[in-house]
Amino acid sequence: MKRVYNFSAGPSMLPLSVLETAQKEMLCYGDTGMSVMEMSHRSKAYDDIIKDAEKLIRELMNIPDNYKVMFVQGGGSTQFAMVALNLLNGSKKADYVKTGQWAKKAAAEAEKYGEVNIVASSEDKVFSYIPDLDKSKFTPDADYFYICQNNTIYGTRYTTLPDTGKVPLVADLSSCIMSEVVDVSKYGLIFAGAQKNVGPAGVTIVIAREDLLGKAQPITPTMLDYKIHADNDSLYNTPPCYSIYIAKLVFEWLKGIGGVKEMQKYNEEKAGLLYDYLDNSSMFKGTVVPKDRSLMNVPFVTEAGDKDLEAKFIKEATAAGLVNLKGHRTVGGMRASIYNAMPIEGVKALIDFMKDFEVKNK
Ligand SMILES: *Cc1c(COP(=O)(O)O)cnc(C)c1O
Repeated sequence: MKRVYNFSAGPSMLPLSVLETAQKEMLCYGDTGMSVMEMSHRSKAYDDIIKDAEKLIRELMNIPDNYKVMFVQGGGSTQFAMVALNLLNGSKKADYVKTGQWAKKAAAEAEKYGEVNIVASSEDKVFSYIPDLDKSKFTPDADYFYICQNNTIYGTRYTTLPDTGKVPLVADLSSCIMSEVVDVSKYGLIFAGAQKNVGPAGVTIVIAREDLLGKAQPITPTMLDYKIHADNDSLYNTPPCYSIYIAKLVFEWLKGIGGVKEMQKYNEEKAGLLYDYLDNSSMFKGTVVPKDRSLMNVPFVTEAGDKDLEAKFIKEATAAGLVNLKGHRTVGGMRASIYNAMPIEGVKALIDFMKDFEVKNK
């Protein structure tokens, strides 16, 4: 068996031990005589799985009791509409910070259901920084204030949250959930598609303050109403059963290594090694201002912006078992996504490869 270091932005690496457990349990889960894939979502065995998954998220993220945890479908992108449909219910106005493609798409979706105010943007410099926020531009009676906390494509992240006062903060954590400690009580709603840090595509986690639910716009489809999912413990209809099962195994793995606090330390160490190398390299450089650098997604380019050299780098890295390093088409160059499941050995292997490449291609 040959396993590579997969630097994909998503879907991305899963912990090997999780895959091995899934393999062991593939044909027969416990004493059920069937795979989790074949199981009724109303069975006792499955009920234990989904309840454990929720319990583990609550424990790992220290989620207060007045927050609901939901497993829904449709990926991060469906949340762009779901947030707007459910929360644009007062002034029907919301503030958005435009820090990349995902925030932009979210704002465009919300515009269909209310009034969107872009408070700040970093589009002028290809989203390579998190813009300063001027509170006088905030909408005082907004229904919510929206951020994309880690910008998967551009490699920026918020290191401090905007102070939105009484206006609920809504955050897309698709590419950073459980990578660092967050204080859930600071948010009105958090969502995250699973396929970057949590498990396979198909399940999206929503964590929402209870008092915000139950006031969806009348046009909201039943399946897009948070209250429906919250009231039915994510079993209103068939949930993405297998994805939730794998997510549960990932949560157990995370708990086993000491939880999110330990994970954060590990992620800081991994990202630190890579950024240190980039800062000292004479061939490569990071594209993001140092203070806003993501721990999860590290875009970089050659100093000279040499497209041929970058193509050669990606090709040779792939041959060396370091795969999916091609950058997003809007940034160019390379991007290494180093989510929770990327072991530090993978980051070290990438750095060694880059050092060697630098010497050979001077
Ligand atoms: C990947 C991603 C999305 C989109 O997720 P889908 O599940 O493909 O809809 C949204 N936001 C962020 C920050 C992402 O990284």
